[in-house]
Amino acid sequence: MKTIDTYDFAGKKAIVRVDFNVPLDENFHVTDDTRIRAAIPTLKKVLAGGGALIIMSHLGRPKGPTEKYSLKHIIGRVEELLGAKLQFAPDCQKADAQAAALKPGEVLLLENLRFYAEEEGKPRGLAEDASDEEKKAAKAAVKESQKGFVAKLASYADCYINDAFGTAHRAHASTALIAKYFPNDKMFGYVMEGEIRAIDKVLDNPARPLTAILGGAKVSSKIGIIENLLEKVDNLIIGGGMVYTFVKAQGGQIGASLCEDDQIETAKNILAKAEARGVKIVFGDEVVVADAFSNDAVRKVVRKDAIPEGWMGMDAAPSTVATWKSVIECSKTILWNGPMGVFEMENFASGTREMARMLAEVTAKGTFTLVGGGDSVAAVSQMGFADKVSYVSTGGGAMLEYLEGIELPGIKAIRE
Ligand code: AMP
Repeated sequence: MKTIDTYDFAGKKAIVRVDFNVPLDENFHVTDDTRIRAAIPTLKKVLAGGGALIIMSHLGRPKGPTEKYSLKHIIGRVEELLGAKLQFAPDCQKADAQAAALKPGEVLLLENLRFYAEEEGKPRGLAEDASDEEKKAAKAAVKESQKGFVAKLASYADCYINDAFGTAHRAHASTALIAKYFPNDKMFGYVMEGEIRAIDKVLDNPARPLTAILGGAKVSSKIGIIENLLEKVDNLIIGGGMVYTFVKAQGGQIGASLCEDDQIETAKNILAKAEARGVKIVFGDEVVVADAFSNDAVRKVVRKDAIPEGWMGMDAAPSTVATWKSVIECSKTILWNGPMGVFEMENFASGTREMARMLAEVTAKGTFTLVGGGDSVAAVSQMGFADKVSYVSTGGGAMLEYLEGIELPGIKAIRE
């Protein structure tokens, strides 16, 4: 397979799908440029190799062309970070002349792909009371017009690079369908390569013991991941709000803690499966409970299966952190997804902070640590540990689907 490091970009035009879906304030200033920064090495590589760039991305969830979601707002920041001037195509489907005129070293940014329904291939503007027939017809129509949309984007360039891991779990025009126009000239950018390498380091032949740490609110949203990981891990630390559904499944008293009663059977199955596979599931014995879901609530430490009526489990107790520590210290590969308590409230952030600290410590001693998925990434960043773990994944939903063992369309399209 060609890679961005072996491909000869001299005199070529590369169309690059990046993730420039960055937050903007009310004056359209970029408030967090992490995703733009992430794409810069790939973009620079093409330019340094003598190529020209056609950059494409989505921004937000527009229903059609709107000022609010125009990519023109980010031009200044991209120019600063890339160190090159940008040309702008205000309609991604009408950039033929601009693309044709591009010379080596030049850069063209296409307007927001999602100004067209064809990017996602989902019909827009359907009446709420549309019949199933009408929905089907609208879907077929957009799928049909999507073909021309993809072909147009592909016509601008000689090669295709996908560097948008955040949308790799979507089979959209720019993330997957376009790849078939470049059977011998398609490749991953550095962001994609880095993400894939990091996750594969955990899922394929990891250094053992392999420990997964899963936290967050709901069992129901993590079942696919737990089931896939049970096939691979040696230890599974479960924390956060998920704990209480398991405790109830084992007959414990959980007071007013978060619980998904419809997941009790699932929790029992997971525990049985883990036992059958020899996977050690680690909860810890004690939790910090509160008399209300508030940072100012009264707190105390109790056994996780003896929570008094009206009290709710909000965080891990120090003895539980110590239990985690004994597992973490002897692991060689660690994956962490989901906070270990209600970390948004300072009084209940300690379990999550201690977990981040422990991961930083073992990383320094050579353990491979991967943190991924929305809130745990926010937690390690906020708490100042992002550069002290081996890898922080930027793709929330994409990472979670990858962990479920689903082959992501954006990855498949490049590989096949
Ligand atoms: P998720 O998106 O499933 O990873 O869940 C993240 C959310 O879980 C965060 O907003 C946390 O505040 C929340 N969470 C973690 N522990 C608990 C808990 N013990 N009770 C309620 N919510 C929790």
